[in-house]
Amino acid sequence: MAELARPGVAAEADQVLMSTYSRVPVTLVRGSGCYVETDDGRRLLDLVGGIAVNVLGHCHPEVVAAATTQLQRLIHTSNLYFTEPQVNLAAVLVESAFPGRVFFGNSGAEANEGAIKVARKWGQLRRQGAYHILTLEGAFHGRTLATLAATGNDHYGDPFRPLPEGFRQLPKGDLGAMEAALADRERPATAVMVEPIQGESGVLVLDDDYLRQLRALCDRYQALLIVDEIQTGMGRTGTMWAHQQAGITPDIMTVAKGIAGGLPLGAVLVGERADVLAPGDHGSTFGGNPVACAAALAVFQVLEREAIPARAGASGARLRAQLLALGGRGLPVAEVRGRGLLLGIGLELPLARETARAALDEGLLVNPIGTSTIRLAPPLIIGEDEEELALVGIERALSRAVAGSPDA
Ligand SMILES: *Cc1c(COP(=O)(O)O)cnc(C)c1O
Repeated sequence: MAELARPGVAAEADQVLMSTYSRVPVTLVRGSGCYVETDDGRRLLDLVGGIAVNVLGHCHPEVVAAATTQLQRLIHTSNLYFTEPQVNLAAVLVESAFPGRVFFGNSGAEANEGAIKVARKWGQLRRQGAYHILTLEGAFHGRTLATLAATGNDHYGDPFRPLPEGFRQLPKGDLGAMEAALADRERPATAVMVEPIQGESGVLVLDDDYLRQLRALCDRYQALLIVDEIQTGMGRTGTMWAHQQAGITPDIMTVAKGIAGGLPLGAVLVGERADVLAPGDHGSTFGGNPVACAAALAVFQVLEREAIPARAGASGARLRAQLLALGGRGLPVAEVRGRGLLLGIGLELPLARETARAALDEGLLVNPIGTSTIRLAPPLIIGEDEEELALVGIERALSRAVAGSPDA
């Protein structure tokens, strides 16, 4: 890693920042479109997009303009009062997904906490106190205590036990196990909570048919279906929401990451059946802040006007085919998972970190997951020129990673 040491703040960071991330040793100072610049003047093609956040790239002029106008008008009010951007955004969000109402928070974990609270209250009111929430192995729902319990990954959760009870992880794709859990009278379940694509655990796609079966099971056993679209939403997978490809309607959907084009914002959308929260049940000082909501309104406008979800689908299909072709050219690409512009390159060798490091030297930001997956979640505005640069850079990075590996 020494050759990657950069001047500037990165060298001092350890003294003042908690060591919660193993950060890539670069300091980013500005961004535009699909590119970011480092403090030592390097320009990098950003295929991570702030982890599926920068859907319109960096500093999109319409997002900047909407946020700037709102900054000069009204920055914060609390949720004791209405603001125009928040009400307008809720209407747009509902229109884009399914009939219902919205609660705004500031992040993904906070959106999922809200969804969990809705499901708990619904269980008290409608299901004689049922409170278990069924999630899937490999899930990622956030880093607060309850969302860690929903995540069920021991690596993330063990240092913080005891976690809140009432969460069970079930094997992915196993409808029999799910049905048994829903039928379990000892531990009655109020909800099933899933991501259409498990992004953090390596970009693992849930089949459309499996999602439809989960919907049917939730109906049969009177449980809510919560779909966590925090990573898959905002057009990334080729449709505005990934669950739309399965033709299902969730009872609750959670959104965050890309919604405000990089500003912090999260949302819980509940359909009529799950709309049980009353005044005093939940809150957030900053949630649905007018600046973030104004930015999000601009994001929705651009996504719709420029048909960006469909473009993301087409771009992803091109990238995926060409990434797969690298496997045919002797590079260790076993498979390419995902949909649209949420892609996981599954490597045949445990070289994800080495590949990401080599990619950085080639001028690309890519995200290693575990030992053998490279995740790509670039801005949805990526053009064919950038796709080409990405492919050339990834090909070179893979070759260098293989050349430097003792197994090669
Ligand atoms: C990122 C993510 C979260 C957590 O969002 P934060 O904003 O980091 O709290 C939850 N669920 C999914 C699917 C995510 O990708």
